[in-house]
Amino acid sequence: MDVYGLIGNPVGHSLSPPMHEAGYEALGLDARYVTFEPHRDGAVAAVEGAAALGVSGLNVTIPFKRDVLDAVAVDPLAERIGAVNTIDFGPVFGDALDDGDDPRPRGYNTDAAGVVRAFARHDVALEGTDAVVVGAGGAGRAAAFALADAGATVHVANRTAERATGLAADVPGATGGGLDDLGARVAAADVLVNATSVGMDDPEATPVPAAHLHADLAVLDAVYSPIETRLLREAAAAGATTVDGAWMLLFQGVEAFEIWTGEDAPVDEMNEALRAGLK
Ligand code: NAP
Repeated sequence: MDVYGLIGNPVGHSLSPPMHEAGYEALGLDARYVTFEPHRDGAVAAVEGAAALGVSGLNVTIPFKRDVLDAVAVDPLAERIGAVNTIDFGPVFGDALDDGDDPRPRGYNTDAAGVVRAFARHDVALEGTDAVVVGAGGAGRAAAFALADAGATVHVANRTAERATGLAADVPGATGGGLDDLGARVAAADVLVNATSVGMDDPEATPVPAAHLHADLAVLDAVYSPIETRLLREAAAAGATTVDGAWMLLFQGVEAFEIWTGEDAPVDEMNEALRAGLK
């Protein structure tokens, strides 16, 4: 049996176990997905321990996404984003390593693929678009690199403006700033990603006032609890294409599943299990 899992602190309410196990069941794979809650200083020890125990793959969530960089061979995209959310132990325990291979487990960031594949699922083409990312934390970094790599011109807007300009400096062709001109930026944009936590704790809060939303916009809200945020409700009322945060969560998991198993993930079954848990 293959063992996969999630390290984070806390991980109690994670929906990754039912989502991944629905995928194993659909493909008839003999595998389990379990959660681990290491001590806050324990990320590297947890990865090394998992490797020693023969765990096949780990997802990584708050607060460990940066800490585990020290324990893995980092994929180039994850290196640019500065965070790892998926670790693949497979090659380390495969047959003989070639001389010169890095023997450490491989670290990836699948949040970026989550953004791109969530838009693709809704037939939103990103190439050549003007995109605004609100937020410059972990989700904002992943979204900004993902959109730029998909051919969008990215503007990052963040409450703490220096964080946005710092991120934009790392993303090809991107600009960054505070929230002052956010409305005008969104009014002129094709794509909007909310990568702040606004709308999560207070369902009546929204990062972008309704007046700036329009019918030519595609809006992804990374917030997935609630699934329908005020931003998405008002975007739909303005005629925009809306993509909820569960799609991003689904496709980061789908991408991890495919890295680990080498199989096309059963997206519909995983989506059903995830959404059943979010109700
Ligand atoms: P993070 O690293 O802590 O970043 C939080 C971001 O939100 C920062 O840009 C912060 O701005 C901004 N922010 C917080 N409160 C704000 C407020 N009242 N007004 C304006 N901006 C505010 O968090 P994260 O990991 O990026 O997560 C952000 C959100 O994305 C969360 O809701 C999380 O659940 C969601 N998420 C979803 C997925 C998914 O798969 N759907 C994946 C990852 C994250 P400052 O820099 O100014 O503090």
